[in-house]
Amino acid sequence: MHHFHYVGHDLHCESVDLAGVARLYGTPTYVYSAATIADNFHRLQQSLTGLEVQICYAIKSCSNLAVLRHFANLGAGFDLASGGELRRVVAAGGNVRSSVFAGVGKTEAEIKLALENGIQAFHVESEPELVRINHVAGQLGVKAPIAIRVNPDVDAQTHAKITTGKSDNKFGIPLRHAAAAYEAAAKLKNLQVRGVQIHIGSQLTDITPFAEAVKKMVPLVAELKAAHGLEYFSVGGGMGIVYRDALASGQAAWWAAQPPERRPITPEAYGAALTPLLAPLGLRILLEPGRFLVGNAGVLLARVEHLKRGANRNFLVLDAAMNDLVRPAMYDAYHEIVPVHRDSSRRALVADIVGPICESGDCFAKDRQLQEVGEGELVAFMSAGAYGHVMASRYNTRGISAEVMVSGSAFELVNARESFEQIIAGEKVPAFLK
Ligand SMILES: *Cc1c(COP(=O)(O)O)cnc(C)c1O
Repeated sequence: MHHFHYVGHDLHCESVDLAGVARLYGTPTYVYSAATIADNFHRLQQSLTGLEVQICYAIKSCSNLAVLRHFANLGAGFDLASGGELRRVVAAGGNVRSSVFAGVGKTEAEIKLALENGIQAFHVESEPELVRINHVAGQLGVKAPIAIRVNPDVDAQTHAKITTGKSDNKFGIPLRHAAAAYEAAAKLKNLQVRGVQIHIGSQLTDITPFAEAVKKMVPLVAELKAAHGLEYFSVGGGMGIVYRDALASGQAAWWAAQPPERRPITPEAYGAALTPLLAPLGLRILLEPGRFLVGNAGVLLARVEHLKRGANRNFLVLDAAMNDLVRPAMYDAYHEIVPVHRDSSRRALVADIVGPICESGDCFAKDRQLQEVGEGELVAFMSAGAYGHVMASRYNTRGISAEVMVSGSAFELVNARESFEQIIAGEKVPAFLK
């Protein structure tokens, strides 16, 4: 569920007319709903009934300071993927002590920064990384808290670029080597074992792989708890969201109308499947959701430059491009695209929806049907909150798009559109070319 809906003919985020946002701040612009984020957070937090749950929001999915402060206010910790993300948590007033540090290639400088800021734990992906963390902790004269990421070798049945829990992915230590890795960790005197972690992939729409992974892990986790005194089991993130019927899925009625076998994953179904498996462990459960919390809480607003009618196809050329939202080009992702001003008297249009960049890959959708829209009119990409703005690039010397946050009838620019001067600020012509 989310808070994007039409009021009369006009698409609103909570109580704010999105056309007004575009008028003030231009396009392309990402708009986030604070209420949707809070609702998603509370639903997930309550899903594992009776268990001690700690949500560590996966920053990489949407990392502006406004979103991070919102999560900090809600009581979230954070799942960090870099030293830069750690510094974002500090800058946003978040708590590093309830945050965890993931990733297969943490540098010595990043490890030092995390230790100095009191990280809750490093999620370690290999034996060499254990040695490196132990070494840095020794230099600082502290004990580094760790959990090892175990690869349970289950097929998450998601896009190949976002599946992470198969044995041929680069992530984690294989299940059969995990006990030995913990033995090795216990022998390193600057490490302190705190937990165990898995994360099998992203945009999972079915509960089965989650349950399968947890079932495979439970005997190991119980054994590790007895041997090393674990405090927590992190089951990772990965819960999927609705992309195809994104707008409709804002309403409870849409969910009620889905036959049970077709209903996309919900926090309630996730909790019902995992709670009985996890409860006997008697551990705190960490969740590391990214997409589920912010994905349907954000849209990308874009303006139509041209409707180009061709002999065989129509092209709707937008001012947004693959540099603003790369998911269609990178993951073959589907985003629902809706008019900001809905007018049922208009004819339907079938068109390829494209950006202005000189790449055939700069195409958001092929043969998409939507209401006819013309030059200067606005469209919104639904479910663009996760892996949207954070993956933006400057390709074609296009500045990174703006971000706005809405709460009720209030809205504010939370990240200004990047200017040309900012883009070239670090560049110079070398002396030998002058
Ligand atoms: C990316 C990532 C997440 C978040 O994944 P979502 O699919 O956005 O929930 C969680 N944990 C780890 C280790 C990750 O790399």
